[in-house]
Amino acid sequence: MYDDLAALLKKNNASLTQPRKKIFDLLLNQEPQTMQVLVRRAAGEVDRASVYRTIELFERLGIAHRLNIGWKYKIELSDVFLEHHHHMYCTNCGKTMDLPSNPMLETMIDSLTNKEGFSPRGHSLEVYGWCANCRNT
Ligand SMILES: [Zn+2]
Ligand SMILES: [Zn+2]
Repeated sequence: MYDDLAALLKKNNASLTQPRKKIFDLLLNQEPQTMQVLVRRAAGEVDRASVYRTIELFERLGIAHRLNIGWKYKIELSDVFLEHHHHMYCTNCGKTMDLPSNPMLETMIDSLTNKEGFSPRGHSLEVYGWCANCRNT
């Protein structure tokens, strides 16, 4: 994992610094997180401004990406470090869940874009609504 990260950074003339490693660790094997949560979890090791700068860099280099959910967003590692997937977001309690993977959905998106002469490099699809928990209360 760190090798992939270091290689990606190096390709862009950036190095794997301690703060970058820390932020990467905070994102690894985690649900998508808001910036507030990341800043809080990094506190004591990486200051707020560096967290924002690092996430900005990660987004630019395709290491992490932003999920737009309603009026805010959460950060998650990109498909390079995480298997490609989609999310369901509960607008009532704020929970983010993974959508079960479905090859047909992926093929369909690719073939639809191909038909338009478009060659896709990736896509994101977020579904919002109410989770089972919130629906039942
Ligand atoms: Zn909910
Ligand atoms: Zn997909």
